[in-house]
Amino acid sequence: MWPAPPQIGFAGGALDRAAHLRDRAAAERLRDAVDSKVVLVGKGQEVATAGEGGGLALVPTSALPADAELTFLGLDTGGTAVFAYDAAAGAPATGQIFEFVPLRSLAGELTPAEAALAAYAVPLIGWHRVTRFCGRCGNATEVEAAGHRRRCPVCGLVQFPRTDPAITMLVQSGDRCVLSRRVGVVEGRWSALAGFVEPGETPEAAVVREAREETGVEVVAVEYVTSQPWPFPQALMIGFWAFVDTAAAGVKLTPDPAELLTARWWWRDELERAVRDGTVSPPPSGTIGNYLITTWLAGDTM
Ligand SMILES: [Zn+2]
Repeated sequence: MWPAPPQIGFAGGALDRAAHLRDRAAAERLRDAVDSKVVLVGKGQEVATAGEGGGLALVPTSALPADAELTFLGLDTGGTAVFAYDAAAGAPATGQIFEFVPLRSLAGELTPAEAALAAYAVPLIGWHRVTRFCGRCGNATEVEAAGHRRRCPVCGLVQFPRTDPAITMLVQSGDRCVLSRRVGVVEGRWSALAGFVEPGETPEAAVVREAREETGVEVVAVEYVTSQPWPFPQALMIGFWAFVDTAAAGVKLTPDPAELLTARWWWRDELERAVRDGTVSPPPSGTIGNYLITTWLAGDTM
C-alpha cells in the first residue's frame, strides 16, 4: 500500500534522497550552503530535540567543525540539504538548547516528516558506528558516497547501510484472529505475531514459518498489507494478513515458551469489548501492529 496509511509512523517522509548528489563535490557544495541543516543523533538511538514539544532540532551545518563527518540524507520539500551527524560525544555549541531523547519515546510527538527523518538518520548513524572497521580484514574503513557506503582501503570490502526485513501478521479465519503476549511485554498488551525474515527466505515464507513456530498454526494464504520503517535498530517491518483454513480456526495453539507468554484465538466482538474496557491493550498507535488489529476489528480485512 503506497503511500503508507497515515496511521503508520515513520513512513511519512517527503524527503528527496537525491542519491545523484552523493558524490564528494556535490555533498561538499551542499554542506557549505547557508541553509543546510543537520539532524543530531546522540548516544544509542537518541535524537536532539528543541526541548519539550519543540520537535526535532536541526542545526546549521556551519555550527559543526569543518572536518565533522556528515551523512547526506537528501533535500527537503523546500530544496534544503539535510545531513545527519553522530553527536554521541556531545552537541555542537550553537547557543541552541538541545535535549537528546530516545527516538522510541518520541514517536508520537514528532510530525510525520520529522519522524521519517529521524527514522532515516538514527539507523544510518548506528550503522556507521559498527562499521568503522572492516569485517573481513579488521582495518579502518573509509566513508564514501556522502555517508552511504564504507570501503576498506586494504582489502576493498564495500559495506552498505543495512536494513533487516521483519514480518508481522494478523493470523485470522473469518471472525477470529490470533493475538499473543510476547515475553517481557507490559500488562494487558496483546499483539499480532512477528519475527525476522531469515537468509534465503521470502517474507511470505517467513510468515508461514513464524506462525507455525510460535503457535503451531498452519497458514494457507498470505496477503501483503503495508510496511513500516522500524528503526529499532534497523528493521523494515512488513505487515500481512495470514489466513488459516476454517477447520483450523479456534484450534488450541501451542505458544513457543521462548518467545510467547501465551497466544489464543479471539472472536472479533470479544476482542472489540476487551479493547474497549481496557483488558486488552493493542500495540501503541503509529505501529503497524496497531494498524493491523484496528483495521481487522473494523472489518476492513481485504
Ligand atoms: Zn578489509
